[in-house]
Amino acid sequence: MQPKSYCRKLALRPAIVDKRTMNILVLNTGSSSLKAELLELPSEKSIFKKSFERLMDPQSLQDAFDALLKELRELGFSNRIDACVHRIVHGGKEFSQPVKLNDAIIARIERLCPLAPLHNPNNLRGVEVARSALPEVPHVAVFDTALHRTMPRRAKTYALRSELSDKHGVERYGFHGPSHDYVSRECALALGSNREDLRIVSLHLGNGASACALEYGASVETSMGLTPLEGLVMGTRSGDVDVGAAIHLAREEKWSLSQLDDALNKESGLKGISGIGNDLRDLEEHAAEGHDKAGLALNVFAHRAKKYIGAYTAVMGGVDVICFTGGIGENSASMRQRILGRLDFLGVHLDFDANRGCSENLNEGPVEISDSRSRVKVIVVRTHENLSMARSAASLLGASLKGEQKPIPIAVSARHVHLTQESLVKLFGENASLTPLKELSQPGQFACEEKVNLIGPRGRIDGVRILGPLRPGNQIEISRTDEFKLGVDAPVRHSGHVKASAPIVLEGPKGRIELREGLICAWRHIHMQPEDALAYGVKDKDYVEVDIIGGDRELTFKDVLVRVKDSYRLEMHIDTDEANAADLPRLSEGLLVRQGGRHAKLKSLRRQH
Ligand code: AMP
Repeated sequence: MQPKSYCRKLALRPAIVDKRTMNILVLNTGSSSLKAELLELPSEKSIFKKSFERLMDPQSLQDAFDALLKELRELGFSNRIDACVHRIVHGGKEFSQPVKLNDAIIARIERLCPLAPLHNPNNLRGVEVARSALPEVPHVAVFDTALHRTMPRRAKTYALRSELSDKHGVERYGFHGPSHDYVSRECALALGSNREDLRIVSLHLGNGASACALEYGASVETSMGLTPLEGLVMGTRSGDVDVGAAIHLAREEKWSLSQLDDALNKESGLKGISGIGNDLRDLEEHAAEGHDKAGLALNVFAHRAKKYIGAYTAVMGGVDVICFTGGIGENSASMRQRILGRLDFLGVHLDFDANRGCSENLNEGPVEISDSRSRVKVIVVRTHENLSMARSAASLLGASLKGEQKPIPIAVSARHVHLTQESLVKLFGENASLTPLKELSQPGQFACEEKVNLIGPRGRIDGVRILGPLRPGNQIEISRTDEFKLGVDAPVRHSGHVKASAPIVLEGPKGRIELREGLICAWRHIHMQPEDALAYGVKDKDYVEVDIIGGDRELTFKDVLVRVKDSYRLEMHIDTDEANAADLPRLSEGLLVRQGGRHAKLKSLRRQH
């Protein structure tokens, strides 16, 4: 069986309107690094990505940020940043959502620094530098801990003296929120399900590692605690350890607190057990050559992860999805197999081929590695914490997100003719009638066998198709390019508004007619039903902007007229010139990104014609 790669399914939620494309600069400032990525939403395209390392003092962070902005400026992106989003590791008890930064919020985050002395001060330095360089754009904070604020007290509480825990805010907070949030959503989407209907154990296995139990959409348990030290075995962190063992070692080795901190955070985990290093690839190689401690490190790592799967299944009263992500979770088939071994009693059955082959397919989306018997779906997902943060920021700032809106199919209208009964007779003879050739997408409309020639002062276009049924007025719709061929000047008009439009001569097999008016370039428009209008938050005769998705050349159409009628089918109509401008493939779609604001301009345009 081949690994299964899921297509992203669009959730048909009501659209958020009055929104547009947003470029969001995601910033992650660590103790000695600055990582930046500029992402465009809702397309989710990565526009620019850069990391700066070895930033040992505040000045070097400032220099790195200046260099980043200079590079963005040179690439023409600096004035295309709509918002910055900052990763803040600890949000304490107060922050359970992303938040827009201002001085008061920053002061509240500063007060949380004692809970994460290695992280929050650095994160805030990044905020300070970015806010002073880009004061005009909104800055948003996303917290690693926020996702887990839904944990019940029984899961958050350490069995320590309550008044001490309360005084110092000592409880289990959990981290890796943006990653667990992102991968659990991706899994649900890939399964065509809602996160609210699933119990998911998410395993983020990288240099830092944590497990999270998401019960019907909410985090109810996670393996990291007050700090990111608790839980799974990590690259250099011990994860769960008897605090008594730490006290014993500190006493025997006469360690200071900071030496104890280093021993547990920097010298333990895979590196500590193996004595080789924290890179799983090296350990797998050494283990295969018989290195005992390397093999032991792998086994301890897998055993711990397996224990957490069992524990979290018990906590949630069952499990529907187990999800792997992070450098190890995404790439090590053997580690996944070790972890999942002997879980058949839970209803977990691994598809060995899919597990082995999945890594190269991850760019296409989540891959299922459980077999068809497996009651529990096991899914590998490439995490994208930056995108997760950018989505959170965009959502907070009210921008539209990919998948939130039903895309609008786009139809390209070639030049065509609508005739009255009288014109049909003049062109095709006394007993002529229209011969339907094929139905068009709008109900009741059809293309006909019959064609006419258009004759203008400069040239002619032969064989232009007639569309039925017959209408009370003649209307000939051409593109701007056609105008030049014919040598006419046709106004851009809404269908039916032909008064004082351009004249044209029509030629049929049985006669010619000279129309004094009727020739127009059709105003681009969207047909929709009342339910669609409700979902998009628009009404008949509104004007909207539509982003074309799927074209080779990106384009946003402004001044798109909305036409609402019970009998319509959702479809946007543009002419051949407009389609060529966007290099549209045959089946393309648009996203409605903004509403209104153009009526005044339109009214004045209408007056001109
Ligand atoms: P992260 O912190 O998510 O970047 O993950 C880093 C970890 O992923 C390191 O321990 C790497 O050894 C591990 N990793 C990356 N690629 C592979 C691979 N192809 N096979 C096994 N482990 C890998």
